[in-house]
Amino acid sequence: MELYDVIIVGAGPAGLSASIYAKRAGLKALTLEKNPMSGGQVLNTYEVDNYPGLPGINGFDLGMKFREHADKLGCEFREADVISIRRLGDGEAAELQAASMGNQKTHGQKGYCLLTDQGELWTKTIVAASGATHAKLNVPGEEELTGMGVSYCATCDGAFFRGKTAAVVGGGDVAVEDAIFLARGCSKVYLIHRRDELRAAAVLKKEVMSLPNVEIIWDTVVERIEGEEQVESLSIKNVKTGKEEKLSVQGVFVAVGIIPQKEVFEKIVQCDERGYLIAGEDCATTAPGIFAAGDVRGKKLRQIVTAVADGANAITSILDYLVNQ
Ligand code: NDP
Repeated sequence: MELYDVIIVGAGPAGLSASIYAKRAGLKALTLEKNPMSGGQVLNTYEVDNYPGLPGINGFDLGMKFREHADKLGCEFREADVISIRRLGDGEAAELQAASMGNQKTHGQKGYCLLTDQGELWTKTIVAASGATHAKLNVPGEEELTGMGVSYCATCDGAFFRGKTAAVVGGGDVAVEDAIFLARGCSKVYLIHRRDELRAAAVLKKEVMSLPNVEIIWDTVVERIEGEEQVESLSIKNVKTGKEEKLSVQGVFVAVGIIPQKEVFEKIVQCDERGYLIAGEDCATTAPGIFAAGDVRGKKLRQIVTAVADGANAITSILDYLVNQ
């Protein structure tokens, strides 16, 4: 059985940063990605304007730059879906020790077995960099009309609504960025937010409010998405007045937050009340040898810049862990 120093689960900014740091530190590292060139959410971001040194870079280009950097250093990638993770048993741990330390006795380092759709993989440590996925509105019509006017990615699907009317639901960075992006091609964009204040960064708020074809509908929730074969309208309700109305739109972009992809880790790593893996700035989780990086980690600021920082911190912690075990 081949034994890795670290297996990095996920190839978004956090995973790629960890790959680069691991390679440069001389660790035997493998990065797993579900799909070829997975890349994470950054690939679907139209414009990233807060990554230092690269103002206004397209998200796809930034993601590809991270990947090219890792490829240039010779980082090892494999396409594999992790099904489950288990701590190695005592016998297996001894085998692991023998394989890694030339039969030298060390103190209790056990390691993990990752069961993937491509077979088992053994590793001393893991970086959980599995990221997050889109949250849903969970209203009637959403599931039925997904791909028929309901979308979770404005940069992927926005072009279908050129010259048409679209709505964006949410008030965070993603919703506001989506509204700004869609306003470039759509005749009209409604930004529907459940409160009377946007959560998004001030610079984005200012920009979206300056756009003549964006109308912000405050204090309002979507109750139903309607249409036969395509989205035709939204039933919306003002949460303060209780007033309901129908809004005619051809597309609706749902941007109501993200859900951590923690399923394979949650049995061995403690999660917080929102489902994120509990880990501090050193990225160490409650499971020895497992480190969390990027959007799956419980933290205040989920940005590309903090994801890449996590990747670097996780590998630095792993170097300490491998020496001290
Ligand atoms: P956020 O959690 O920041 O915002 C989600 C928004 O959706 C909030 O305004 C929230 O309302 C609203 N919302 C949540 N649930 C519902 C619901 N059921 N119905 C209606 N509205 C709802 O998520 P984002 O996806 O915008 O961003 C995710 C993370 O990614 C953030 O940390 C963000 O900062 C980060 N990001 C970083 C970027 C970068 O690095 N350049 C770019 C884009 C995003 P309320 O405000 O009332 O809670």
